[in-house]
Amino acid sequence: MSVRVRFAPSPTGFLHVGGARTALYNYLFARAQGGVFVLRIEDTDAERSTDASANAILEGMRWLGLTWDEGPGVGGPHGPYFQSQRRALYNKAAADLRARDTAYPCFCTAEELEQRRAAQAQRGEAPRYDGQCRHLTAQVRADREAAGTPFALRFALPGAGEIAWDDVVRGRIVFQNEVLDDFVLVRSDGLPTYNFACVVDDLDMRITHVLRGDDHISNTPRQLLIYAALGSEPPVFAHASMILGPDGKRLSKRHGATSVEAFGDLGILPEGMANFLALLGWAYDGKQELFSLGELERIFDIARIVPSPAVFNTEKLEWMNAQHFKALALEERERRVVAFLAQRGHDLSARTSAWISVFVRALGDRIKTLVDAETYGAFALHEEVVFDAEAWADVLAKDEAGPRLERLAQVLAALPVAGLGELEIATRGLAAEVGIKPGELMGLARVALTGRKVAPGIFEVMWLLGPQRTLARLRSAAARWALERASA
Ligand code: GLU
Repeated sequence: MSVRVRFAPSPTGFLHVGGARTALYNYLFARAQGGVFVLRIEDTDAERSTDASANAILEGMRWLGLTWDEGPGVGGPHGPYFQSQRRALYNKAAADLRARDTAYPCFCTAEELEQRRAAQAQRGEAPRYDGQCRHLTAQVRADREAAGTPFALRFALPGAGEIAWDDVVRGRIVFQNEVLDDFVLVRSDGLPTYNFACVVDDLDMRITHVLRGDDHISNTPRQLLIYAALGSEPPVFAHASMILGPDGKRLSKRHGATSVEAFGDLGILPEGMANFLALLGWAYDGKQELFSLGELERIFDIARIVPSPAVFNTEKLEWMNAQHFKALALEERERRVVAFLAQRGHDLSARTSAWISVFVRALGDRIKTLVDAETYGAFALHEEVVFDAEAWADVLAKDEAGPRLERLAQVLAALPVAGLGELEIATRGLAAEVGIKPGELMGLARVALTGRKVAPGIFEVMWLLGPQRTLARLRSAAARWALERASA
């Protein structure tokens, strides 16, 4: 039997780290097994589900490179893939369960249920449905239904006993039936509950493995009971461990960005994100850490999902991201940087391809995330230099700094051709002439041209700025030096 897995997000927000990891694991498992990856949108909660969220989730998956074989946009033999369009299937399954006497109508109103729950709480009991409507006679049920009294459909829980499964990640998990109650399958508004719709769909879509977060473990016994009541075999279950923030608490917005989209805005590449997510609760051989998506598609194995919680480590993500960035071909690095900067309002479309190439090469290994291209490339992206206070203080403290910058401007202005080589020869020549180390002169120029002590190679900086901006910045720094020295 070939593997069929699904990612079944509820469209109530963005694609968050946990959901993205679930999607990725399902995708990788399907690919590694030559199986099918289904995407199903669980939008039966009409109040909280939005189209915007469904689109954001699809967008997040596309960004990560997770293509689905069946689902929204691509269709497939088990559609529609939005639960809100699958009511007929749930109704049919509900009728089936009623016919088998494993479900019954419950006419209790929300107020009645609330009162009884409050009374249970007062007696120190766990809130659970007391089974009142389970024991109504067929006649009473028929009369109430005929009178149009609204009702929910509840599952008739089998008596004592236990429900268990062998979880791929966590081994055998056992629940006593008595911790459950006659839970609702279909609400009085006619909409199915998550557990019911999920089972009906997983059956209809021939899902062989349910791979999801461990926050769903408590749903699994209910789902297993529904499979049994429908006379069907359940799929294999695998519950991946939760993801913790660095403080050991469940990852949440408090820890910063949690949606995949937000990481893209922070300059993380899809390659880096996918690699990082894959290792958030899964290990290959405990050694290799860098993987391309293609590689993961070949080697991913659900048996290696680890049961202990995974900790989200931003430094690790940035390190991985840097490795993936470095591994890209130069043209691809250029494309990513240009696209990212454009998104941040820096239009480089008028720049020559040589300029862009030098710009990206000059930033070199400083780029851990694409944001670094903006930070370290700021000198070339903005008209005004923003001086780092400490860097300027160093320049100010150096005797002769102003006149030397002025001299450098003169020497550079006299160059007939200002290529990287000419800029270097002229600068070194001046240092020799003045009798200082080339590094000292380059250090002054670096602050004058970029405002910082740490910046890309100084000749690349000069070349990228072009003669006009280079000379203007050198002269303006020289003038500022003279002014501040004079008034000191
Ligand atoms: N709609 C559920 C969720 O978003 C799906 C859970 C499952 O995979 O069964 O959490």
